[in-house]
Amino acid sequence: MTELLFRDDGYSRSCAALAVAGDPRGILLDRTVFYPTGGGQPGDTGVLRLASGQEIAIIDTVKGELPDEVLHIPAPGTALPEPGMEIVAEIDWERRYRLMRMHTCLHLLCSIVPGAVTGGQVSDGRGRLDFDVPGSSLDKEALTSRLNALIEEGHAVGPRWITDEELEAQPELVRTMSVKPPRGSGRVRLMEISGVDLQPCGGTHVRNTAEIGRVVVTKIENKGRQNRRVILAFAE
Ligand SMILES: [Zn+2]
Repeated sequence: MTELLFRDDGYSRSCAALAVAGDPRGILLDRTVFYPTGGGQPGDTGVLRLASGQEIAIIDTVKGELPDEVLHIPAPGTALPEPGMEIVAEIDWERRYRLMRMHTCLHLLCSIVPGAVTGGQVSDGRGRLDFDVPGSSLDKEALTSRLNALIEEGHAVGPRWITDEELEAQPELVRTMSVKPPRGSGRVRLMEISGVDLQPCGGTHVRNTAEIGRVVVTKIENKGRQNRRVILAFAE
């Protein structure tokens, strides 16, 4: 098990940790600030610094086989840490912050389109959601101006935990049909954008919608009779 520091604080850029195990497929630490690929958000990149001064470049982060296991994937050919070695783990913060801003913006997009979400993806500087909505009911300019209004209004964003039973009783909270929230641990993390959106999510988010900055809907694609893909980018 890895202690997942990004879960409580998405703004943690680095942490001290101990190496637990490591092979070329991934390095396991006892705690980490690196977010592993999941829920449409890509894994973090960054660096692991050893006490010797050696640096291990991390090119991706993924989930391991066990719950809460995080594998830090080293650049090919890098020397690996020995178990028990003290490490400072530091993410590429500039990239992560852009991912957090775009990820949070996808929650806003979800809140203004009436229709189930069938898929989604955050990438560096861009994001998309697929909606099960008919015909040409979505308008690029209208969505862009509504999103930027919600961003400028500066809504607080924060986690709220509920039990599995409470979620069962409120299935309408789950907007994303393709990404089911993780069950079984007894509780589920919801992300709340005050007055705008509330849904289960395990990703990383900014604390206030104003941090997102201006965005633009660049494209609405037709991906089948009832499937519309809305693609977003930062405006500057
Ligand atoms: Zn989220």
